[in-house]
Amino acid sequence: MKKKEKSNISVTILRSGTRVPTLDRSACSVLIQVEDENLLFDAGPGTMRRLLEAGVQIYDVSHVFFSHFHPDHTGELVPFLFANKYPDIHRRKQNLTLCGGTGFLSFYNQLKTIYNQWIDVNGRLNFIEFDNSRKDEHIFNGFTITTTPVCHSPESIAFKVTAANGATVVYSGDTDYSENLIALAKNADLFICECALPDQMKADGHLTPSYAGRIASMANVKKLVLTHFYPECGPPECSPTDITKQCRKTYAGPLVLAEDLLTFQLD
Ligand SMILES: [Zn+2]
Ligand SMILES: [Zn+2]
Repeated sequence: MKKKEKSNISVTILRSGTRVPTLDRSACSVLIQVEDENLLFDAGPGTMRRLLEAGVQIYDVSHVFFSHFHPDHTGELVPFLFANKYPDIHRRKQNLTLCGGTGFLSFYNQLKTIYNQWIDVNGRLNFIEFDNSRKDEHIFNGFTITTTPVCHSPESIAFKVTAANGATVVYSGDTDYSENLIALAKNADLFICECALPDQMKADGHLTPSYAGRIASMANVKKLVLTHFYPECGPPECSPTDITKQCRKTYAGPLVLAEDLLTFQLD
């Protein structure tokens, strides 16, 4: 049997929180490094600092993918673009590609009516909109991105990154229970799933540990990483809720509760 080629994907949960920051968790962002590209998924306020802590310079980020437009996922966009405009950032060797669901270009253009040329990155921006009415796919140099609509806000999409050797990482963004997400995450090597609140605090448009576990089980993922935690989810010394125990009601496979700067190497 042919041995599977070693994957070249590394995933860092830059930030594992939500709009309500704590000293342990800050608003949402995930770094996925595939081949030689640094891909950011969401960029909540303060993402650049965590990027630097992860050893990545901002001008080495090639693509930013936004799951939706809520401020805890997009708040760093304006400062990030402004920083990339600094003359010394001419070290940037490639254009910066910004991607989101339907309406993303309009979202950027509205920001541009306020910030004008300060966020144009000297003409080095590309834009890609994924159709949020259906499954969509775009082939990049060395990886493929597949998206699907999820249940949160009208533009919300989840992402699957597929490396050249077939290794897959799925990132849910924010969502409620979603059959689309189950289909997208089918047999994923790593499934990064939002888990906003404990089971007893279920909110519309978000998942809980047992709902996230159910999606992971039905999708038969190889490893589940829960993230996007409100303060009610811990850390354990601050919360009476045992998130792992709640997730175990529906999911028996490998499970990790995300922390800021936690890294995974897929092999
Ligand atoms: Zn959120
Ligand atoms: Zn949201």
